[in-house]
Amino acid sequence: MAALTNYTPGPSQLYFTVPDHIKSAIKNNILSLSHRSKSFETIVEKAVRELKQLLQLPENYTVVFTSSATEIWERSIENLVEEKSIHYVNGSFSARYAEIATQLHKQVSLIQVEEGKGFELPEGIYPEAEFVAITHNETSTGVSWPLEDFHKLRSSYPNALIMVDAVSSLPYPDFDFGLIDGVFFSVQKAFGLPPGLGVWCVNQKCLAKANDLQKKKINIGTYHNLLTLHAFAVKNQTPETPNTLGIYLLGQVAEDFNRRTIHTIRKETEYKAAILYQLLDQHPILKPFVEKKEHRSKTVIVAQCSEVTQSVNQFLQQHGIVPGDGYGKNKTQQLRFANFPAHSKEQFEWLVDTLDKFKG
Ligand SMILES: *Cc1c(COP(=O)(O)O)cnc(C)c1O
Repeated sequence: MAALTNYTPGPSQLYFTVPDHIKSAIKNNILSLSHRSKSFETIVEKAVRELKQLLQLPENYTVVFTSSATEIWERSIENLVEEKSIHYVNGSFSARYAEIATQLHKQVSLIQVEEGKGFELPEGIYPEAEFVAITHNETSTGVSWPLEDFHKLRSSYPNALIMVDAVSSLPYPDFDFGLIDGVFFSVQKAFGLPPGLGVWCVNQKCLAKANDLQKKKINIGTYHNLLTLHAFAVKNQTPETPNTLGIYLLGQVAEDFNRRTIHTIRKETEYKAAILYQLLDQHPILKPFVEKKEHRSKTVIVAQCSEVTQSVNQFLQQHGIVPGDGYGKNKTQQLRFANFPAHSKEQFEWLVDTLDKFKG
């Protein structure tokens, strides 16, 4: 039988070039490289350069590395919130971000909707808002923010720092970085890499805010506060001995993605999402969990399978397809399908044909 394809959102299917890059890392002694060497700086420089090109990040953005996106949830609250944070919550990941703010003793306002739903945009203008946390793609439910909504968000919160968790959508979304202040992801999702690295892109306003908080003697953390991370980033270094292999692989895969072009990756993502949603919309037994088309994620597609969940799962596995389980309480009712650059058009066509053959 052909190799299994992993449709779990994370860790997801490895991008097909990763095994060769790991071999080259071993051959080139990257695994025992000093993080204060010139060679290390070259690796960081390349990863950041390729990533900036891929995401079309503006020059005034800094890229820093952490251990995970979970760490960035915590660091972003510590470094960017003096008193109050506003969280848009529609599932487990956005809820966890808000919970971390509570654990860090911030005053947390929740704007919450049911799982499977997107948000109505705020009517008013809130010039006093300090920090707004958005989960661009709620991985637990497959709900995504339409990019047009960011214009409205920016005008509703003209002075807030808007931080976007795009862990399970980047590099797909074509963000207007002028409307937000930072974005982050971890590499084991849509970048098709092994886990253990978080990537945080922030603008100058974030650095200025961290600086302000530090001056006010508010705890912004130590080795991984934003100012220290930035001070090392400008030298293409990191404060601690980092996941060098992870940074190396990110540079290599971002280069592979750039060669393929972000335009092609976006078009293929849209094609694959369209054929899967079309199948689910027409299927006699399965249906898309997210009803509203404009809120349907292109990168994590959730199928409501209800009582046949286990039998669809088994049927898919017999055909070489490993779906992601539903998240949390939806584990026995839903299946999730990651649609990342590592999932080829042919693999998606096979997935769709196989689901089409499932008759209960
Ligand atoms: C997976 C995920 C995270 C956490 O990522 P880690 O790398 O496990 O820390 C955060 N936010 C979203 C939206 C995710 O999907």
